[in-house]
This record gives sequence, structure tokens and C-alpha cells, in this order.
Amino acid sequence: MTLKERDKKHLWHPLTQHKLHPEAIAITKAKGCVLTDENGNEYIDAIASWYTCMYGHCNEFITNRVSQQMKTLDQVVFSGFTHEPAILLSEELMTILPQNQNKIFFSDNGSTSVEIGIKMALQYHFNKGDKRNILIAFEDGFHGDTFGAMSVSGLSVYNGPFEDFFLDVKRIPTPNGNNHDAILESLKEIAKSNTIAGFVYEPLVQGAAAMKMHNAEGLELILKFCKANKIITIADEVMTGFGKTGKYFASDYIHTKPDIMCLSKALTAGLLPMAITSCTQDVYDAFYSEDISKGLFHGHTYSANPLACTVAIAGIELLKSKEIQDNIQRIINSHKDFNNRIKNHPKVKSTRQTGIIFALDLNIEMERYGNLRDKLFSFFMSNGVFLRPLGNTIYILAPYVISEKQLEKVYKTIEDVLVTI
Ligand SMILES: *Cc1c(COP(=O)(O)O)cnc(C)c1O
Repeated sequence: MTLKERDKKHLWHPLTQHKLHPEAIAITKAKGCVLTDENGNEYIDAIASWYTCMYGHCNEFITNRVSQQMKTLDQVVFSGFTHEPAILLSEELMTILPQNQNKIFFSDNGSTSVEIGIKMALQYHFNKGDKRNILIAFEDGFHGDTFGAMSVSGLSVYNGPFEDFFLDVKRIPTPNGNNHDAILESLKEIAKSNTIAGFVYEPLVQGAAAMKMHNAEGLELILKFCKANKIITIADEVMTGFGKTGKYFASDYIHTKPDIMCLSKALTAGLLPMAITSCTQDVYDAFYSEDISKGLFHGHTYSANPLACTVAIAGIELLKSKEIQDNIQRIINSHKDFNNRIKNHPKVKSTRQTGIIFALDLNIEMERYGNLRDKLFSFFMSNGVFLRPLGNTIYILAPYVISEKQLEKVYKTIEDVLVTI
């Protein structure tokens, strides 16, 4: 039996309606930017396996470090104990995070990092005796699939059964250069009751909304409003973090820094699951007390797993290297050239780019998970390129180590697919 056949017996895949999509492709190995399936077919991983393995799959610089760490300290409880990988990671993060971030809290995935950010914001006010229970979030935002994260996600297409249990969230549109006054007016209206605890946002690029990009000055105005009204700002940089926007973090493009930041995905370079919620000293201080109940009583068994921390440290070292920074610039420039090639194509409605994230919208209306989307996906895969179109958007978010030749193949395959639709 093939892996594909054995898979069907016991496995239930994420975000999958198995009746409509019974087949999964079995991947047997990955190296650099290339995935190989059980039949020996190769695919360029042009979305870095959901924006994780930015330094390439099975990167030996990283795997060697982890293999050393595995022989020394594998796992230990992180309540009451500490260890060097966590300490070193916190020190390393301080060299790249926005200056105002000062404390690091660990969890296991992007959703829980947001969950923790929300809990920090709610308890921050609670500890100060300020009753605030409303959260603000962008329309079309995506923050994960646990309850708090789901509540703040505007893209809740299939959340019907759960909506009655959501947190109280008010939505604002993303700033587009023309709607800033209107956004501030609606914020003022909501803030009248003085019950807004926090604002959760994906800065500059909304990943799951199909790489929707918004206006930095507008975001700046919203964040300034939040600061002035003591609303805790929570930047979900799970997708945008670690170089993808051309800077270490999307928040680096904005003068007003977030109070809390959520990190995962590229944090651990695609090797192990881990997430971090970082915060300012001010947030931390609201929990620091002789009163035990003012502490943050949240924890996960694998918090600060030493192996995952080791991966993250190695990843940051690579991110800061000249080689990776040069690669990022190279990809940014290649995307710009590709944009000039494709932007006037009759099948292309619009294009956009932030850092190494490139997206184009097709001139065709289609469903997010509809038949045409499946047709595009199959075309890409049969041409050896792993791209996951979202609705009528095709986007590229390739590992930093993708070669010019591989990138050209991705571009060419996108040009070729336009002829077929
Ligand atoms: C992927 C993602 C999440 C959720 O992370 P998981 O690790 O899948 O739980 C949250 N926020 C953003 C912006 C993401 O891209």
C-alpha cells in the first residue's frame, strides 16, 4: 500500500473536508527549497511550508545544533526551572525585537501565542482594577483556531458552530489611505464606554486574508489612538515576523510599537513547534505583585522546550547573517522585476508586494476553496511548484534560500497557469 492509501485509514487532516478532498500527497523528504513525494516527484516549496522553513528545509546549520542539544538536555519543566537555551534565546530576541519589548513568554503555536496575548491584555486591566472586556480587531484578520484567537479572527468562514461562545470583539476595516478618519471615528465611538481592553492586529500584511496589505500611516494612527486610550496593542507577527517584510518585524516599519507581540512559524525555522508572546516591562509589571492571583496563570507542558529554543537561536543567527540579508534583498528585487512582467497581464487584476511577500489577484471571481482554485493548485503541483492559491489570489512566500533559477521556475509556472484559465 502507498502512504497515500494508508493515510486514509486513521488520519484526519487540518482544514480538510475529507469527502471533497480524499487524497493527500505523501512527502517523504525535504531539502532546501525542495519537497519530494513518495513517487519521487519534486516540488519547489514556494510558500515555505506555511512561512516556517525560511532558511530551507533540513538546514544543517540548524539540525547540527539541535542534535548536539538533544544529547545534553531534551526537556525540563519550565516552572521553577530554567535553562540556557531559553535564556540565550531571550537575549538573542532582544537584539532584533522592537526596543520596547522586554519579556518573553513561551507556548507551542501561533494560536496560543495570540491566546496568551489576549489574556495578558484582559488581565492587565483587571489587575489594575479597570473593567475592560472588549477587543478590537481588523476585518479579515486571522489569528488562529483556538477560541480566543478564533474570536478575534474576522475570517471566520467556517466558525458557525462556535460563534455563540466568542469573546466580545468589535471590528474595524484595515486602513487603505482613504478611510483613516472614518476608522478613528468608529474607534472613538467604541472607546466612549472605556471598555476596550486590547487591539489585536496583523501589522501591514494579513496572511490568511490572501496577503492583503494595508497602509502603514493608517496603522500608525490607530496605534496612537490605542496608546492614548490605554488600549493594549497586540501585534500578531506569527506570519510577518523574522524578515519576511524586508525588516526583522513588520512593526519595525511603524513608529508606535506594540505592547505585546506574538511570534511563531519562522521563529523555529520549520523544525519544531514553538511560539512566543513578548511584552513590555509595563505589561509585565501589571502582573508583578505580592498577590499570587495577579500572576499570569497560564502554562503549557512543553513551554520553552530546550530543543525548540536551540532551533530558534540558530534561526536568528542565520537571519542576522549577511548571506540571508543579501538573499532577502535579492528576492525583493526579483519580485519587483516579476511584477513588471506580470502586472499588465489581462488575467491579472492587481499585484502587491511587501518585502519577500508577493501576491497577485486574478481578474476572475472564485471561491476560496472552489474548483478553479483546485485547478490552479493541480497545475502548480504537476509543474513541480508548491503554491496554495487563496481564492483568486496567487502568492509567493518562498524560503530565503531559494535560488534565482528556482524563483524563475515559480514565476514561469504562474505565467503558464494564466494561459490555462
Ligand atoms: C498561522 C497564523 C496563526 C496561527 O498559528 P498556528 O501555529 O497555526 O496556530 C496566527 N496568526 C497568524 C497571523 C498566522 O499567520
